Amino acid sequence: MNRIKLLVVDDETDFAEFVAEVAEQMDFEVLSTDNSEEFAMLYNIDINVIVLDLFMPGIDGIELLRFLYENESHASIIFMSGKDTSVLHSAQKLALQQGMTVLGILQKPFRAEELETVLSRHILRSDTKDTEKHDLPSQDELRQALENEDVSVVYQPQINLTSRKVIGVEALLRWKHPTKGEIPASYFIPLAETSDLINDVTVYTSKAAIKQLGIWKRDGLDLQMSINFSPKIFDDLDLPKKMATYTIEMGADISKIMIEVTETAIMSDVTRYMDILARLRMKGFNLAIDDFGIGHSSLQQLVRAPFSELKIDRIFVSKLDRDQECRTIVEVSILLAHKLGMHVVAEGIENKNIWNILCELGCDQGQGYWMGRPMPAREIEGWMKNWSSL
Ligand code: C2E
Ligand code: MG
Ligand code: MG
Repeated sequence: MNRIKLLVVDDETDFAEFVAEVAEQMDFEVLSTDNSEEFAMLYNIDINVIVLDLFMPGIDGIELLRFLYENESHASIIFMSGKDTSVLHSAQKLALQQGMTVLGILQKPFRAEELETVLSRHILRSDTKDTEKHDLPSQDELRQALENEDVSVVYQPQINLTSRKVIGVEALLRWKHPTKGEIPASYFIPLAETSDLINDVTVYTSKAAIKQLGIWKRDGLDLQMSINFSPKIFDDLDLPKKMATYTIEMGADISKIMIEVTETAIMSDVTRYMDILARLRMKGFNLAIDDFGIGHSSLQQLVRAPFSELKIDRIFVSKLDRDQECRTIVEVSILLAHKLGMHVVAEGIENKNIWNILCELGCDQGQGYWMGRPMPAREIEGWMKNWSSL
């Protein structure tokens, strides 16, 4: 079997190793180098993807680009840099002008999921034979799975850190492929995001989650429901109305629904998002900013958008007990959210120690494997009984 060959060019060993680890897990064959001579040598072999740090002592990223161009490289490029994103954008433009394929740009530090998203673009771009070779399902298979309801929605508890009371759940989609097994959301969500299929995904999860919220209400379970919304769905200006109508039809309360959007989603088409976000808020839906800290933060937009909740990304939370920088980021995020009148949810609480630190830092709510993994709706009540008896 021919694996996709990936070359990492970076002088920061930690980062190069991180990239290699993620890529190897996705079945790429990885080579890495931190200098231009070795780069030229390694380049002779048939490289499919190059992950390039633009700023390295002794190597000019732009010069490497020229080298690739002159050598008629067919490799797809991923740019990364710890510096200003404007440089990344210029490099991307330059490469595109030279007819090269740019899979994406990554601002350091980035997390594994971001790299996976960009790398899966290469897999998606490859021909069907490639897709088969790597045994990853295609977009058509996902579309089919949604139609046949071969997907399901699971729910992860969100808990008040002070009272230990269960506030609500976050709805997350799961896809069990008949022959390929469980497909991770970190693969199929980016896959769906490359087309309008993501709207079908969002609608599927929202409908299932809102219906479930209605059922729980009738069963006397007072929970809040958080639902992830991908940026594309905001193209539909009728969304707030449709959502409100469906929620009422299902006998659920609009005020119990929390719509999660990512920072990246808010930043790209500000006016449109602000319009829809404001109208969703006016209809009574609550809004959360998801994965806070890893996107393109703009404090101004954070202040302007009508969010009532801020979710700190698990990349910071899960390292809270051993990394001072992460602790600082979490601490500052909590302060910022509180100053802006939002409450804070920490994602990725993996042990009791992290829970305790978050309590000390004044975080309001938490979500994580230590308390409860995402589970089918029928297990929630039993889990709640067990949790309250601990
Ligand atoms: P997210 O919205 O940030 O969801 C939280 C993710 O963190 C979930 O991953 C959850 O299983 C995981 N998680 C929770 N606690 C822990 C923990 O303690 N440790 C670790 N390592 N992970 C934890 P999941 O379900 O794989 O989803 C990944 C992402 O895919 C989600 O991130 C969300 O952005 C997206 N996604 C999932 N379902 C949907 C959906 O139905 N629609 C849309 N648009 N996006 C979805
Ligand atoms: Mg979320
Ligand atoms: Mg998140």
